[in-house]
Amino acid sequence: MLVAGCTRHQDPQIAFDGPTMGTYYSVKIARPPEGMTAESLQPGVAEVLDAVVAEISTYDDSSELSRLNQNPSTDWIPISANLHRVIAEGQRISSLTDGAFDITIGPLVNLWGFGPETRPARLPTEAEIADAKARVGWHKLELRADPPALRKARGDIYIDLSALGEGYGADRVGNWLESQGIENYMVAVAGAIRTRGINAKGEPWAIAIEEPLPDRRSVHRIIPVSNRALSTSGDYRNFFEENGKRYSHEIDPMTGAPVDKRLGSVTVVDETAMVADGWATALMVLGDRRGPEVAESQGLVAYFIVRDQQDQPRGFGSKSFESLLGR
Ligand code: FAD
Repeated sequence: MLVAGCTRHQDPQIAFDGPTMGTYYSVKIARPPEGMTAESLQPGVAEVLDAVVAEISTYDDSSELSRLNQNPSTDWIPISANLHRVIAEGQRISSLTDGAFDITIGPLVNLWGFGPETRPARLPTEAEIADAKARVGWHKLELRADPPALRKARGDIYIDLSALGEGYGADRVGNWLESQGIENYMVAVAGAIRTRGINAKGEPWAIAIEEPLPDRRSVHRIIPVSNRALSTSGDYRNFFEENGKRYSHEIDPMTGAPVDKRLGSVTVVDETAMVADGWATALMVLGDRRGPEVAESQGLVAYFIVRDQQDQPRGFGSKSFESLLGR
């Protein structure tokens, strides 16, 4: 128990942040190696994130992914090993969720106005949804690892890696910091976070899970994380309302429409931020019933916040979450 006026010892810390991927990143480093400063490290971090954007952004017409999406060929198309790795992870999660997670969801994401194109002034018609759905299906993609290449069953398939991208970016920055000899850090790219070692207080990094409230920010729970990554997906940040109904950016490939379930958010803890990011989106799309079932069957460390009948948030963890991080 600490008495007033007595502050716990705090080691030196570097912290900086900046814009990326239409959102933000932040980096905290505890006990930085001699001579390292925010000024000396920030350019390297920004360069890594710019490289990630140049690989997988659908908002950048010249990115490798955009050029792949623009390529009408149904023959094998050579891709970089990095792009192959992200797409392969997307396909793996699709195979484990019966396609609830699907990186070819791009035409539906754009149709509902959650992609690079401006949001249409009206809701899409059934016919437009059917047209977009015809282009969606992870089975319509074939991957080859050596040399890395991809084949599309139809030339107008549009891949969207936004569900994995922020996590992948956090992992890339983490790898770069480690290559600089940094052992204690927390990297966040929006809701995707990667940690190594301990914070400046000598404790695991304290990560807040927010209440899934669209109109204000408040902490639901704080979890201690060290040498792991986590990511939160939810329907309370990126959504629009029409006739009193909420439409979020989590799209169900089966219906072709935003998911409409009582699940407010899902937080997944995993070895890498990319895997945590992908699973958080997948469990959000699966919803408040199938989500927890799949989390248990896959042994995922997942924390769900559902809205009860009174629209009050109620949180619960998977068995693995409770055994790892239970109170
Ligand atoms: P998550 O839950 O992690 O992912 C949700 C996203 O996944 C959706 O927005 C949709 O794109 C996709 N998705 C929806 N349903 C499914 C499904 N069933 N299966 C698979 N995927 C699904 N935004 C901008 O506004 N401007 C930019 O310049 C910009 N640049 C970006 C560059 C990169 C490299 C990336 C990866 C993203 C960029 N974004 C940009 C998008 C933005 O950063 C977020 O990724 C996006 O808003 C999704 O938010 P999220 O990752 O928190 O949600």
